[in-house]
Amino acid sequence: MTKIYVEFDNNIPRYACTSCGSCDSLIGKSLCKVKNRGCCWYFPKFTLIDIQRMSKTTDGLKALNRIINNPGTQIYNYYIHAKGFFDEAEYKRYMESDMLPVGDYLEDHTIFFRGCPFVKPGKGCTLPPRYRTFVCNFFICKEISEMAKSHELFHRYEEERLRYSRWLDWENENLRHILSQENLTLQSNFTEVIKELQELELSQYEFPCLEPIVLDDSWYRGA
Ligand code: SF4
Ligand code: SF4
Repeated sequence: MTKIYVEFDNNIPRYACTSCGSCDSLIGKSLCKVKNRGCCWYFPKFTLIDIQRMSKTTDGLKALNRIINNPGTQIYNYYIHAKGFFDEAEYKRYMESDMLPVGDYLEDHTIFFRGCPFVKPGKGCTLPPRYRTFVCNFFICKEISEMAKSHELFHRYEEERLRYSRWLDWENENLRHILSQENLTLQSNFTEVIKELQELELSQYEFPCLEPIVLDDSWYRGA
């Protein structure tokens, strides 16, 4: 049985899935040293609202410090990109070989050779959900979506995710506008931007408490 449900961490929503702990989806496969990391090959981009959330508390500032101290992190004007592990040599060997899965749906095979800087193999993410990015908190892979799409509630899950992402875009645009009016960027004035974000009121979003989606996947998993 697979369950998809909404979880809140300090009022920050995320979609959780009980299959992620024993992921056997194509994009969760690892061909590099970072094993059992599900789809945490993603290199997260932290937007202004993510950074503002972190700026408001001591543990949030600790998370922000971890992000900026990660060796692969790049700070841009209005977001932070935390890059992690990538085994380029193995990736090149793989691309030149005949190991490519036949008929897969992937355009980017680097994912098999990457690891987010914040994932602990077999344990998962070491950042609290309240400081993770929208992508990290709401991604559902193709295999799980395929299983869930015929469930009456799944469409509602997709709609609510879209509504929330639009709200985040709007809030990020507002914050970017305020900072640019003051000629402030993360790249040039990091400390001032954090101070400004601390002073600005943090907008809240009332994400609905959706009923869990419960799927009988025995037919799908071949059990
Ligand atoms: S969303 Fe899919 S690919 Fe990612 S960990 Fe869960 S089951 Fe695996
Ligand atoms: S920040 Fe956490 S959830 Fe997001 S990709 Fe990295 S380990 Fe996974």
